[in-house]
Parts: sequence; structure tokens; C-alpha cells
Amino acid sequence: MSRQEIPYKIYLKESEMPRQWYNVRADMQNKPAPLLNPATYEPMTAEELGAVFCDELVKQELNDTDRYIDIPEEIRDFYRMYRPSPLVRAYCLEKKLDTPAHIYYKFEGNNTSGSHKLNSAIAQAYYAKEQGLKGVTTETGAGQWGTALAMACSYFELDCQVYMVKVSYEQKPFRREVMRTYGAKVTPSPSDTTQVGRRILAAYPGTGGSLGCAISEAVETASSQEGYRYVLGSVLNQVLLHQSVIGLETKAALDQYGIVPDIIIGCAGGGSNLGGLISPFMGEKLRGEKDYRFIAVEPASCPSLTRGRFAYDYCDTGMVCPLSKMYTLGSNFIPSPNHAGGLRYHGMSSTLSQLYHDGYMEAVAVEQTAVFEAAEQFARVEGILPAPESSHAIKVAIDEAMKCKETGEAKNIVFGLTGTGYFDMVAYQKFHDGQMTDYIPTDEDLQKGFDGIPSFPGNEF
Ligand SMILES: *Cc1c(COP(=O)(O)O)cnc(C)c1O
Repeated sequence: MSRQEIPYKIYLKESEMPRQWYNVRADMQNKPAPLLNPATYEPMTAEELGAVFCDELVKQELNDTDRYIDIPEEIRDFYRMYRPSPLVRAYCLEKKLDTPAHIYYKFEGNNTSGSHKLNSAIAQAYYAKEQGLKGVTTETGAGQWGTALAMACSYFELDCQVYMVKVSYEQKPFRREVMRTYGAKVTPSPSDTTQVGRRILAAYPGTGGSLGCAISEAVETASSQEGYRYVLGSVLNQVLLHQSVIGLETKAALDQYGIVPDIIIGCAGGGSNLGGLISPFMGEKLRGEKDYRFIAVEPASCPSLTRGRFAYDYCDTGMVCPLSKMYTLGSNFIPSPNHAGGLRYHGMSSTLSQLYHDGYMEAVAVEQTAVFEAAEQFARVEGILPAPESSHAIKVAIDEAMKCKETGEAKNIVFGLTGTGYFDMVAYQKFHDGQMTDYIPTDEDLQKGFDGIPSFPGNEF
């Protein structure tokens, strides 16, 4: 197809929005390992999980067999406010790079939460409401998930309690206000409102907190209040399932123009946007129908896939959550304080971890100044100010496009542009003022994290 025939933005019609999520686990030969009870090392039962998570979400978490799961109409109604999201042909970036590659990005920043997280937040809030719960608790790091959940909870009139990593709480006061605008109660973590928070504060006075700490506090708060459950914005199978809406729309848009991607790229924190974007394509690869290159991009300062261990580990610092088999840096790993680019979780989705382990996906780690250079380059030609997280994917998409320039190949490169960066201007400021540094943890630094991975029979790594 000639250049003119592919528009800058491929919008699906509302009626073409997916009616079902796609569950990639159904097509995996090696299923992701089950969550384990940290006390017994036995797989968590639905009943045990139901004490922490909503019932319907537990079913989705444990469902390794149904390829498609219906999206309830109430959720589709909400999706209609900001979906289908555009698939953009990055003509201006291609021109600037002078590359023969064709670059496309799926833009998920077109909603007030500023990221893809709303896709799962609305689903999780819906199931909590359906179950007759009063409210939900959660953690947030950079604040996108907390914002998305606050929006979803206000829509379904649920109470929303957010533990926000203390450094972010202090650095991003406007994020906090957005959440409060939507009625959420926001507490900086670690706090003295929970036992685990008090324990962490006593052990590490003055700590700025971490996602792992905030998760422990949110889980404790959910279990200690009648009618509350805990919800999580990434990592879990159910979240990847909800985010498959990104990949399904991307595939439908590409199919309409007969475009077959060669490379699909996404940033990887806990793995939800990447998992969602690649799922339908990965399904084709797993079924032997097509072949694609998938690239996960992570920060060099928090390199769980490229330098982590594939083992059962705690999902949180307080060790109250189930154990998950994943690529991990250890639950007490905290990225260097000068890391400003997000994606700071110590572990990775068990589904993506298994796919990576089995060789279906590649991973690269990139340094943050290079990420912000790519972000700025992109912003100046494509008109969108990207989130630092998303910019990891931009960086590698540009790298791949520049390789095409050398070889003269017109590859189709698709990447996930997960969100906008308006609340990340302190990080941009550091970059502009030349105060941003790159920090790559040494093997000794990482070993401290690995030492915290539990050792029990069957968990050799
Ligand atoms: C949360 C977030 C990510 C990383 O989370 P994943 O679960 O790995 O997708 C990436 N980009 C943005 C904008 C985010 O808010």
C-alpha cells in the first residue's frame, strides 16, 4: 500500500471495539506458574485468594484455559468514553530519522489518568461493585494507577483508598490532587496507619518508600476492613487480560490496512501494557501461525528481565502477598534514588516471565538519559509529551528504525505509547538542567536483592 493510503491516525469505529478480552495463557504450552501460599508453598486456592481479591477477578486470575472472556457491557460503556484509542503512523518521526522503517504507535494517553491503566481499573472496580463491596485499596508509585482507580471507583461509587509511595507523594502533589478530585483517600507510604508500615518505618527511618511497601500496606488495610478488597494495577494475569484490549484494537487496525508488524515493542514495569499489546500477536506465534519479534524494554537501573532471577519471590516488601514465579530482583530491591523514569517494580508478570524464559520474547535495558533524549526527540516531532515509562519503548523503536536505515529495510515497527508525562516535569527538568545521571546497579548491589528471595525445595535459581 502506498504511503498516502495509510492515514496518520487509524481510528477503529466504536462498533469495532473488542467485545471479549483475549487470554494468552490459553495458548501457552508452559503455563505461568501458580501463585503460592507463602506459609505452605502450596498453590493458592480460589478461596484463599478470595480473601484478598474480588471473586470474579480470582476466577480470571486462575483461568488458564478460556481463550476469550466477555467484556461486560458496563465496562464497554465506560471504554466508549476514551476508546478505541488511535493507532498513529509516526510519519513525522520517520521523516526526521530519515528511515525506511514504518513506525506505528498505539496511544493510550488520551484519558485523564494519562495512561493505559484505566483499562484494568474500570474492570476491577466493576467486579468489586458487582460483588457488593464497599471499596477497594491499592498502592500507587508514580500515581497513574491510583488516578485510574480513583476515576473508576468514582464512576461506580466505590470508596478508594490509595497508598502512595512517599517520594512520589512529595514530588507529585498534583497527582495526589487529581486522585482527591475523584474522591480517593491518599496516604503516603510507609505510614503509621498499618502494622506493616510501622514495622518498615522502624527498620528504615526516613525511607521514601517503595511499591513493595505500599502493596503490603494496601493489602493489610483491605483485610482489616469489612467489605473491602485489594486491587493491583499490573503484574497479575487478570491485569494482562484486561489490557489485551490494547493489542486487540492494534491488530484490528493493522489488519484493516493489511499491515503486518515485524517488531512489537513495549516498556515493561510489571508487564501489563506490554502483555496486553503483544497478547493477540503472541497467540498467533504460540499457535505457529505467524512470527513476530517482541521486545520488552526496561530501565538499566531496575533490570528484572535482563539481570533478574527466574524464581518464586515475594510480590511485596512485607511478605504478606502470595509468592509469584517471575523474573525478579528480590522484594527488597529499591532502585537508585536518582532513577526518575518509572518502571521501578522489582518483579515482572509471571506470564511474560514464562514467555521470556521460553524464548518467545526479547528484552533490553536502557539508560535513563538516553530515554529522555528519545522522549524529547519524539515530543518535538510527534506533538505528544510522552511519559518517561513510555519513552523506554520510544528509545528502542528509534534504535530499531535506525538499524533499518543502515540495512535499507522497510520494517513495520509497532510500539506502545502508554501515556503522557505532564506530571513528570521534575524528571524532565533534571534532564534539561543536565542533572540526570545514569546508574546501573553492580552485581553486588543486585546480589543483596537476590539474597532476599526465599529458598525452599523447588525454588532453585
Ligand atoms: C504504569 C505504567 C507503565 C508500566 O506498567 P506496566 O504494567 O509494565 O505496563 C508504563 N507506562 C505508563 C504510562 C504507566 O503508567
